[in-house]
Amino acid sequence: MVAIAFRNVTHRYPGADRPAVDRLDLDIEDGEFLVLVGPSGCGKSTSLRMLAGLEAVDSGRVEIGGRDVTGLPPKARDVAMVFQNYALYPNMTVAENMAFALQNAGMKKDERTARVLEAARMLELESLLDRKPGKLSGGQRQRVAMGRAIVRHPAVFCMDEPLSNLDAKLRVSTRAQIAELQRSLGTTTVYVTHDQIEAMTMGDRVAVLENGRLQQVASPRKLYDEP
Ligand code: ADP
Ligand code: ADP
Repeated sequence: MVAIAFRNVTHRYPGADRPAVDRLDLDIEDGEFLVLVGPSGCGKSTSLRMLAGLEAVDSGRVEIGGRDVTGLPPKARDVAMVFQNYALYPNMTVAENMAFALQNAGMKKDERTARVLEAARMLELESLLDRKPGKLSGGQRQRVAMGRAIVRHPAVFCMDEPLSNLDAKLRVSTRAQIAELQRSLGTTTVYVTHDQIEAMTMGDRVAVLENGRLQQVASPRKLYDEP
């Protein structure tokens, strides 16, 4: 089943001489881990932001779970976003950071706590729940950012270069962790990176963007192994 559909989606920033994303047409299957890859400035973030409702769609439409969400605000989309800078609240503990969106959505405290503990277990954050972000390593902060997304049980994860602030060694281990976590949760994921190794090792399929245009969509094996 198709979970996400970009239908001829275009976005042009004011004053730009060409669209940042130009007639993007792409189906993403239920439970799929799709990597959007390409050089800096090719339109990856803009595509992801249109999916999350953080950037306007000039023409075309975006569907999630068969529903046209074009023009709907982020809150109406059931999409959780993980950014590269994590954007954690410095004055809240790890647990409070993870629970915040649930609290805003009016979820009862028992259920919030259960969700936070479940995510903490999956991400090995149980011993850090009462810490403030300032007392965490980069890798731990990244896991908290993942936790904030997971607790919502969203239909879609959007990740924008989530590993780019980690050192090389941590990037490799976190890469595997994210891929494993996604597979165990089965949440449809769109993962943006400029790193071909991430694309190759993490994606069920890889979509290659260049100058705002979709060049190819294929499994990593088809894309990188075959002559
Ligand atoms: P990527 O994520 O692949 O690096 P982006 O989607 O961020 O690409 O950017 C695509 C193009 O749009 C680039 O040319 C970039 O300079 C431009 N762009 C991105 N954000 C803005 C913005 N807020 N205002 C104007 N131009 C932007
Ligand atoms: P409140 O202001 O609702 O009394 P807190 O400010 O202590 O709660 O925490 C905010 C949120 O973080 C709550 O939703 C709570 O469920 C969650 N939370 C706080 N501490 C923990 C913890 N150690 N384990 C799991 N969840 C926690």
